[in-house]
Amino acid sequence: MVHAHAQVDQPVTLGITPTGDLDGASRHYEKKLGDMAGVYADETAWQAERSVNGDDSLVYYVNEQKYQEGPGALIVGTSVLLPGSYGNEFAVTRGHLHGVSDRAELYYCLSGRGVMLLETIDGDSSAIELTAGQAVNVPGQWIHRSVNVDTEPFVTLFCYSADAGQNYGIISDAGGMKNLVVRDDAGWRTMPNPRHTGYTVGVTQ
Ligand code: MN
Repeated sequence: MVHAHAQVDQPVTLGITPTGDLDGASRHYEKKLGDMAGVYADETAWQAERSVNGDDSLVYYVNEQKYQEGPGALIVGTSVLLPGSYGNEFAVTRGHLHGVSDRAELYYCLSGRGVMLLETIDGDSSAIELTAGQAVNVPGQWIHRSVNVDTEPFVTLFCYSADAGQNYGIISDAGGMKNLVVRDDAGWRTMPNPRHTGYTVGVTQ
């Protein structure tokens, strides 16, 4: 029997745990200390970490389910950013602007405590603290990165358009994001990144 809707994708259940396990993930990738060249403002501190823990030391990992292709489809995943600091700067993910820059993203904190650091190429900035149960709706046009400001893994669930893509070069070409999230008596604060040279409009990758 040929069903009229035989070509439609079926809904799927995803099992998601507070520690970021994703039952149904189609991809897993890891970023290690050796992958983080140029990411941290304090180069000496990053080099010191490399010499102590080695380039294979895990910084963060991602589980994701890419279920469909094309505009309208979603990528759903979890990000687990381990605690750490480099000088006074907290551990971060590389961060990016979406390749299709108007694509938005949801980040929902599953466990830990972290900050979503957000900037636009036009000079707007924001830093939003997240703990379990809180989410941030990241609109299009915002460069975004996760920062772990605590001593436990910072675990988030994310969801964004499958056609969004990631532009990492916009950050690396600018000498890093405009702001850093650093240790402070109150826990954390932002401060200007002395290496930041300004975002270049029109960078594609
Ligand atoms: Mn994103």
